[in-house]
Amino acid sequence: MTEPRPRHCATCGRALNPREVYYRFNLVLEGEQDVLDSGDEAEDGDRDALAELVQRLEDGPEDASELEDQVHWERAGVVCSACRIVVVRMLDEGAATPRPH
Ligand SMILES: [Zn+2]
Repeated sequence: MTEPRPRHCATCGRALNPREVYYRFNLVLEGEQDVLDSGDEAEDGDRDALAELVQRLEDGPEDASELEDQVHWERAGVVCSACRIVVVRMLDEGAATPRPH
C-alpha cells in the first residue's frame, strides 16, 4: 500500500501529519503602480512584512513552477495551522486599521 507523499508547510518546512489540519493557499503578487513619483510612501512595516513573507515562501520546499517576472509572482501550497496564524496576522496588519491590542 503506497503512502501519500507527506505535505510540507510552505513557510516552516515542517512535514505535516496526515491527520493534521492544514491550510491551502494561493498567493499571487502582481506589480502595480497607480501614481508615478508619488511623494507618499507606504509604511515600511507593511512592505517589509510582505517581503519577508515572500522570502519565506520562496525558501519553502515546494518547487516554483516558474518565476515569470518581477511583476507577476505566484505560489500555491499549504501551511500548517501555526504558520497560518502568522501569515494571516501579517497580511491583516497591512490592511486593517491599527487597533490597540
Ligand atoms: Zn508551518
